[in-house]
Amino acid sequence: MSEKKDLIEELKALQSKAKSELEALVGEKALTSWKSEYLGKTSPVMQIFKRLADAENEERARIGQFANEVKSALESMYEQKVNATHQAALSEELAHEKLDVTIPGRRPLRGRLHITTTTLREMYRIFAEMGFQIYRSPEVESDENNFELLNIPTHHPARDLWDTFFTKKEGVILRTHTSPGQVRAMREFAPEPIRVVLPGMCYRYEQTDASHEFQFNQVELLVVGKKINFANLKGTLEEFVQRMYGKDVSTRIRPSYFPFVEPGGEMDVECFVCGGKGCSVCKQRGWLEILGCGMVHPVVLKNGGYDPQVYSGFAAGLGPERIAMLRYRIDDIRNFWANDVRFLQQF
Ligand SMILES: [Zn+2]
Repeated sequence: MSEKKDLIEELKALQSKAKSELEALVGEKALTSWKSEYLGKTSPVMQIFKRLADAENEERARIGQFANEVKSALESMYEQKVNATHQAALSEELAHEKLDVTIPGRRPLRGRLHITTTTLREMYRIFAEMGFQIYRSPEVESDENNFELLNIPTHHPARDLWDTFFTKKEGVILRTHTSPGQVRAMREFAPEPIRVVLPGMCYRYEQTDASHEFQFNQVELLVVGKKINFANLKGTLEEFVQRMYGKDVSTRIRPSYFPFVEPGGEMDVECFVCGGKGCSVCKQRGWLEILGCGMVHPVVLKNGGYDPQVYSGFAAGLGPERIAMLRYRIDDIRNFWANDVRFLQQF
């Protein structure tokens, strides 16, 4: 009997000690050590269950029941204390971390237009001011439009100028230049006068290096009408260059060969890095090549539905990437399509 009574007294004492300790403790760490002290495997309550093994059956049941009650009382007071501690921590945190509505917000990450797109749009704007319309034509073209109708027959050596992506379908290719759009525009508008810009992506099957990509943009100009002459070509292009690069920039036209123009030329602008004195950008020449141009070849006019005896025209082809490279001193054309945001974010 005395053993039983002692055990119950012991449990009661234990419970009140545990309770007062629990009430006094502060912080999560103290909670954890309290738990292992009073509810862990080696805690006095658990030890009592072990000691009961020697007791008589009747005693064992009663003491066991009482020990269980003490154990669940300890558990429930522990749960309450845990909740209270968490609440207190949360309230303290909220009290200290007040929302300061005057702090500037985080700036959202905004996308931007690709440097080629902004360059293209600037070119469109300038040409639009000069009365040009934008005419879009397909990137997948027929061999006929890309070459034949532009005065480049199948076995003509000039075909070597364009390394072409062929498709599995006979006669269907990726356009190597925007010039097939010339024939499409002429066939749509003939015999009306034409003043269009033909922009878009072109493809060439060639080794890439710092100045060659297998895909790039071109912007082509086409003007067709009565009494269009070389002075119109020169005046239009000079006007464009001055609006693009500034009033003071000088230009020159050198003779060059393209099968779909006659005569053909290339236009240079005075190097705006060194002002014509010669530097690494212009390779000491003082001039930068920016476009190819010429009077539309009579064969091309005829293919487009215009009588070359009555009508004439001029065309020019510019590279927006090249223009951007010169303007921002970008030394490698492969940057344009490499999708490296460190490059793209600069513009
Ligand atoms: Zn220079």
